[in-house]
This record gives sequence, C-alpha cells and structure tokens, in this order.
Amino acid sequence: MTERTKHIPKMEGRTHLPRLDTEKCVACVLCQYLCPDLAITRGEEKENPIEIDYNICRGCGVCAFICPKEAIKMIVEE
Ligand code: SF4
Ligand code: SF4
Repeated sequence: MTERTKHIPKMEGRTHLPRLDTEKCVACVLCQYLCPDLAITRGEEKENPIEIDYNICRGCGVCAFICPKEAIKMIVEE
C-alpha cells in the first residue's frame, strides 16, 4: 500500500477507507445522498468537491460502488 491513512482517526471494525480522486469527481453529490452514515458533505472549494468525515465513515464502500465517475477508491486502512 502506498497511500497513507495513519493521520485518520481509527474506528473499530473498519478496515477500508474511501479516497477521493478530485480529478475524476464531478461534484454530482450522489455519494452524499447515498452514504448511509451521512459522512459526506459538499466541499467548500472547487479543488475539494466533497468532504468525507472519517470520524463518521464506517468504510462500507457504498460511495465507491455508486460513484458514476469511479472517483472514490477504497483503500486499506493502516
Ligand atoms: S458520486 Fe462520485 S462524482 Fe459524484 S460527488 Fe461523489 S465522488 Fe464526486
Ligand atoms: S465508505 Fe460508506 S460510510 Fe464511508 S463515506 Fe463511503 S458510503 Fe459513507
């Protein structure tokens, strides 16, 4: 694994985390509507179209599965 997740708060039982590719994201916010834990909000800036709150995210992978642009990838949590 090359992507670092050590700075992200741990959650018991979570093994994977969603990672956003801002180049691919078109800010359709489908992931925001379908996240079962309401962990996704709209970002403030163009470079940051959505925000994922890793204090809430349970790593279920729904956002990665439904994203029409494949802009979210699930990565193994360290
Ligand atoms: S569903 Fe995909 S393209 Fe749409 S806002 Fe979420 S990450 Fe971006
Ligand atoms: S992995 Fe699941 S809980 Fe986390 S942001 Fe995506 S849909 Fe929400």
